[in-house]
Amino acid sequence: MSRAYNFSAGPAALPEPVLEQARDELLEWKGERASVMEVSHRGKAFVAMAEESEADLRTLLAVPDDYAVLFLQGGATQQFAQIPLNIATPGQAADYLVTGAWGQKAVSEAKPYVNARIAASTEEGRFTDVPDADSWSVDPAAAYLHYTPNETIHGVEFHALPDSGDVPLVGDFSSTILSRPVDVSKFGIIYAGAQKNIGPSGLVLMVIRRELMERSGQARAKILNFAAQAKEGSMLNTPPTLSWYLAGLVFKWLREQGGLEAMAKRNQAKADLLYAAIDNSGGFYRNPVAPRARSWMNVPFTLKDAALDSAFLKESEAAGLLALKGHRAVGGMRASIYNAMPIEGVKALVDFMADFARRNG
Ligand code: PMP
Repeated sequence: MSRAYNFSAGPAALPEPVLEQARDELLEWKGERASVMEVSHRGKAFVAMAEESEADLRTLLAVPDDYAVLFLQGGATQQFAQIPLNIATPGQAADYLVTGAWGQKAVSEAKPYVNARIAASTEEGRFTDVPDADSWSVDPAAAYLHYTPNETIHGVEFHALPDSGDVPLVGDFSSTILSRPVDVSKFGIIYAGAQKNIGPSGLVLMVIRRELMERSGQARAKILNFAAQAKEGSMLNTPPTLSWYLAGLVFKWLREQGGLEAMAKRNQAKADLLYAAIDNSGGFYRNPVAPRARSWMNVPFTLKDAALDSAFLKESEAAGLLALKGHRAVGGMRASIYNAMPIEGVKALVDFMADFARRNG
């Protein structure tokens, strides 16, 4: 058995050169005579690695100086709660654009702390589009406007930045961070769980406008306080050292690939190839998402007859194409094609799909 093309939604495939480097230095890292997992996070080598990873990320995303970069824990889900705790007063209005299951979860986790208002939702259309800006009801006094640039389950992506006016824009970038350039200056907060485009799980990346950390927020423990984390270099307690190290290797890999402009070209080409295969299948495969909102990262599709699903999954796995089962909320299949998925993997998938359709059409 050998490594296959892995279409998992997350934890997802990592770039092979990153895994190879991690393997090569697993036992002895940077002359430490121990692995990166076995040394103090306060030691020179780890602190240097942490600083370098932040510098690489700042270069990749062109992060302005008035933004802090935090390496946090608790998954993106914890941030659904921690963000209102830090930047909204108790019961203050906070607006949400809901375009899928993760946006819904963000609302429900924020509810104990804020008056979470649904400024727009596409639930009625079963989360197959982004809402038109003229349909939003945004409160100018809201603490922030939260949205999910890419809904991982529904495969719905905003291809333009929402205009939140003077209200700070907060984006859950978990499944699209680093897939293309983004204008950080338009955001109050960008955050992302690591396990799709950054590294292994256990780490959450946050880019936050420093000014927002001066807000009083609400009563919370120090460990939940962004300003306190920023002051301590994201090391109020022991960080997930292995995940952080791997994230650092991924940032270097991305820079070697030509940065986010290059990734955007590649990611768009991969997505175009897969959507074309679906749309040109004569109805054998179908993606329900409006073309303007189709995700470059997660491509859900159904087969014309759900009775074929189990054969599709069994045969695709045998052909070296892993984890194509769709989320139960949507059914069918889902191919997640994050940065680490090479175009060859997508080509192998579309070839398999064409062959499967021929045999079962
Ligand atoms: N937001 C989005 C967009 C996600 O895709 C996910 C995970 N699939 C989450 C939040 C939750 O992330 P975590 O499991 O890290 O809490």
